[in-house]
Amino acid sequence: MNLYSDLKHLAVNPLIKHTGSDVVIAHGRGPYENTVSALEKFDLTVLKNKRVLLKPNAGRLATSDKGVTTHPLVVAAAIDIFRSYGADVSVGESPISGVNTMEAFEVTGIKEEAEKRDCPLLDMDERKYVNAEIPDGIVLKRMKVCPEIFEFDIIVSIPVIKTHMHTGATLSIKNMKGCLWRRSKVKLHMLPVVEGHKDKPIDIAISDMASVLKPHLSVIDGTVCMQGMGPSAGKPCPMDLVVVGADPFAADAVTARLMGFEPDDIPHLRLCSERKLGSTAVDKLNIYPENWGKLAENFDVPPANLSISYPNIIIHDKNSCSACQSTLYLFLKRYGNTMGDYCSKNDPLHLAIGKGNSDLPPGTVCIGNCTRSSSVSGEYISGCPPVASEILSTITGRHVYDTKDGKL
Ligand code: SF4
Repeated sequence: MNLYSDLKHLAVNPLIKHTGSDVVIAHGRGPYENTVSALEKFDLTVLKNKRVLLKPNAGRLATSDKGVTTHPLVVAAAIDIFRSYGADVSVGESPISGVNTMEAFEVTGIKEEAEKRDCPLLDMDERKYVNAEIPDGIVLKRMKVCPEIFEFDIIVSIPVIKTHMHTGATLSIKNMKGCLWRRSKVKLHMLPVVEGHKDKPIDIAISDMASVLKPHLSVIDGTVCMQGMGPSAGKPCPMDLVVVGADPFAADAVTARLMGFEPDDIPHLRLCSERKLGSTAVDKLNIYPENWGKLAENFDVPPANLSISYPNIIIHDKNSCSACQSTLYLFLKRYGNTMGDYCSKNDPLHLAIGKGNSDLPPGTVCIGNCTRSSSVSGEYISGCPPVASEILSTITGRHVYDTKDGKL
């Protein structure tokens, strides 16, 4: 029996040769019309009788006005257009740790649009993973991939445009991380430093993943984007545009420019380009419309760590993943201003997340399983991730239950 499957079926992209422009941008008509208008510039006749999997960003419990998840009308338009070409379309997701897939589809509004169209929604964490090899992997030699990736003919990545504290930005390449099975996603944040390599292991790992797990089409939602402290704690930034490309590296590179960055500013994109996985040379691409550059914004760059300032609260963040960052962000947003009784200028409240924190001050509240070994003389909250109300309960000593736990 073959223990490892390969992803060779993703290496051939029938849509590339059916493309007039490399990348198309549609702007100013709202999420549904922008998506239809951009997709109409592509010859999608090869989709007839094909099984098409749409992979939006529905990784968190957030509505689309926050810039955290893909707008449901972008997904709705993609379903309609692909079906009009005779494709059999489904929508699938494997969200971040601690988030239930079907609840995420509901909160994001994708469930409502899919149900109106009788389009199947797939919890890609439900069944057992398939091991996939990464022949040229540097830090990742294999990964646990959701089985749906092997069952569909065409994979469409539909991310929302966001900055990301760990990876610079999260676009159509990084969105494919949501095809890794359950908690195996977290592994990408926990890899050891590669000797002799200046890049962070997470960036190398994404380029490893992208060497085999890449979409056939990228439909990038820029209805409401996120800048600054993405992927969940940044500022929403409405742009009212959609970017479509059959080469995900090209689509991401153009989108990076629309954010005000150079593609090489996004380490995993630069690495993908250095590894010759796809073209990120924007000036060599055929982009529609010609005057697309006038749509570009200047996004706030993401800080390296969670750096929300609350009076007398100090955060120690080392190698945390997005799930614990989201939890801590929610805690601070919801309860940060009520912490006055539990800290002062001379006795600040120390909160730690992530793996590898050392020399934490006595009394530090360590949040999440990754902090277990760092917690020497303070409180430790288990969970991967815990929820915001557990942090509050631990600090105040009172049991708290919050129905908004997990929702941004
Ligand atoms: S404990 Fe937190 S930082 Fe560690 S893997 Fe779980 S969610 Fe991520």
